This record gives sequence, structure tokens and C-alpha cells, in this order.
Amino acid sequence: MNLIVIDPGHGGKDSGAVDYGLKEADVALRLAELVNNYLGDYANAATSMTRNKNTSPTYPAPPEGLRKRIAFANSKNADFFLSLHCNAGGGSGFESFVAHNAPARTKQIQKVINDQVLSYLKGYGIGAHGNPAKNDSQAARSRIAVLRDTRMPAVLLECLFIDNPKENKLLRDPKFLDGLAAAIVEGLAEALGLKKKVTKPKPMYRVEVNGKLIYDTAYEGKIAEAVIKAIDKNANKIYLTKL
Ligand SMILES: [Zn+2]
Repeated sequence: MNLIVIDPGHGGKDSGAVDYGLKEADVALRLAELVNNYLGDYANAATSMTRNKNTSPTYPAPPEGLRKRIAFANSKNADFFLSLHCNAGGGSGFESFVAHNAPARTKQIQKVINDQVLSYLKGYGIGAHGNPAKNDSQAARSRIAVLRDTRMPAVLLECLFIDNPKENKLLRDPKFLDGLAAAIVEGLAEALGLKKKVTKPKPMYRVEVNGKLIYDTAYEGKIAEAVIKAIDKNANKIYLTKL
């Protein structure tokens, strides 16, 4: 099992970068929820979020400080840490960061995620912000604690610039965010060897009432509905045949 801690950047009193009324913290949370959802399709992936819009009794107080996020991931013995942010400060495009001294495997995961995300962004005419694979010594504040102090492979994504009008517009587009989340998860799945859950197809049934074909369907609800209707009409012969 691969436990992936998803870390939507900022939150609480810290809204992150804000431009055109859009808060980085909100975009990061929305994206994190979508990523979390897509990871649910994989049999050997489990997830945990460092913060969550809903506080529930089973969830500890949302760790707003970076130390709390790091301690949270370390205490869970997570296999991977994914921090989601948006960039700001005049620029455009996508970039990702790993710790300055990240092992080769972490850099490999970073590259695979980058490739998937950049191929998705190409469809929107958006590319990388410089060299997309960076380490935290190349970040604006030159030290990203969540990358340095987590004890598992960790990658931080700077998903577009919130202060770039075109990218700001995309960051508030649910369809765009959904596709971005799917691309991130494609990359994660490839890099971590995640396997899709096998869903067994539901059996099809033929419903016949008094010799007349009513449905060929896999939906239990439809079958029940047809049978109840037939009983109501006092039908003599109700046949259910597995196809
Ligand atoms: Zn941020």
C-alpha cells in the first residue's frame, strides 16, 4: 500500500497568494480534493490530507503550521508527500520542487509528474516556468520546509500563476482543475506503480413479462421496478434470465 499525504498549501488564516479575488489556499484545497478523489481509483493507494475543509471528530485539528504538516506526514509514515500550491509574482507556467538534497528516486517521481502535467497544460497553451524540475534552493524563499523535513519522497507543485490573468481564469475553471488533478494522478500512478482497482462488470438480466421483453439491464433498480409494475398489473409470468 502506498500512503500518499496530500498537502493543500496554506489554509486557515493564511490564504496564500490572492489575486483577482481568488485565494491560493482555496485553489489548492479544490485541487487536493480532486487528486484525493482520483487516487480512490487505485487499489494500492491510500491517502490522507494535511487539512480539510470539514473538521470532523475523527480528524485532528487542521495542521495549519508547516511544522504540524511535516509532523503529520512523518507520524503517518507516509510513502509520498504531495504539496499543492499556485505561484505568484509575475510569471506564467508550471514548476515543481523537491528538496535540495533529494534522492534520485524523488527526482524521478518529480520528472514523471512534470511530464504528465506539462503534456496536459500544452492543450491550454501553457508551458513550464523555466526549467520545471527545481529544488528548494531555487525557490523564491530558498527553503521549503515541507520538502526538507518530511522523511519520505516529497514534491511540491506550483500550479500556474494566480496573478497571471489567463492562468487565474483557468484556476477557477472546474473542468481545467479536474483535468489537472487527473494529470497529476496519472503521473503519481506511473511513478509509484499504482494499480487501478478492478471493477467487475455487473451481470446483465433480461426481464420478460407475459412473454414480452421489458428490459435487458444491469441495473437492479430497473429490474425491481419492472417486476413491481408486473405484479401491480397482475402478470402471470415474470421471467428473469441472466444473459
Ligand atoms: Zn503557496
